[in-house]
Amino acid sequence: MRLVLLGPPGAGKGTQSSRLATELRAVHLSSGDILRAERKSQTELGKLAQTFMDAGSLVPDDLILRMMICRISGPEASGGFVLDGFPRTIPQAEGLDERLAMLKRPIDRVVSINADDSVVSRRLTGRWTCPKDSSVFNESYSPPRRAGVCDLCGTALVRRKDDEPQVVSQRLTTYHAETRPLIDYYRGRGVLTSIDGNAEIDDVYARIVAACRGNG
Ligand code: AMP
Repeated sequence: MRLVLLGPPGAGKGTQSSRLATELRAVHLSSGDILRAERKSQTELGKLAQTFMDAGSLVPDDLILRMMICRISGPEASGGFVLDGFPRTIPQAEGLDERLAMLKRPIDRVVSINADDSVVSRRLTGRWTCPKDSSVFNESYSPPRRAGVCDLCGTALVRRKDDEPQVVSQRLTTYHAETRPLIDYYRGRGVLTSIDGNAEIDDVYARIVAACRGNG
């Protein structure tokens, strides 16, 4: 299955995509995770992306398209994929469609996870990550046993720079201006299902699975 998850930052796309990909035996392709890995390895792309990411704005379309098309066209994606965080603009969606048409592997379904700005903002600004083992905690929903410290390895937790309140607010503005238009784009192509993401992780997951089966 070839699936795209749309939604604002903090809607739970990462968590849901990773679970779905395991179940569908598809590859999970998160543009944000790929960019963070590029930054960590200090590649040319990682260095270029850094300023945009830290400001909460989008990395230019041509860079993202090259990065994602390469993975989507590769053998690991031939059994299906779940796209998370890509496409994020109309030119990215058009570039993706063009490539998938060439490969004769069109998108089967796009699920848009709708969540209120106040809900996603609380999720993102309350998110803390362990720099050692990448465990993720949330002040409000899943706090660590000891404040500020990883449950698994005891390392001090850090907040992603782009989860700081001012950057979160910019990321939401960017989402509304650049990414929300994709909802109409995919609705026009007859592949969109919208679901309510203001709910528990398991409930949202069940709604996505129903949407993929055509019952959403
Ligand atoms: P995410 O983890 O998906 O919220 O992505 C983190 C940051 O990476 C975003 O705020 C953007 O700066 C950048 N990014 C991720 N995916 C894309 C994309 N498809 N297009 C442009 N920028 C992206």
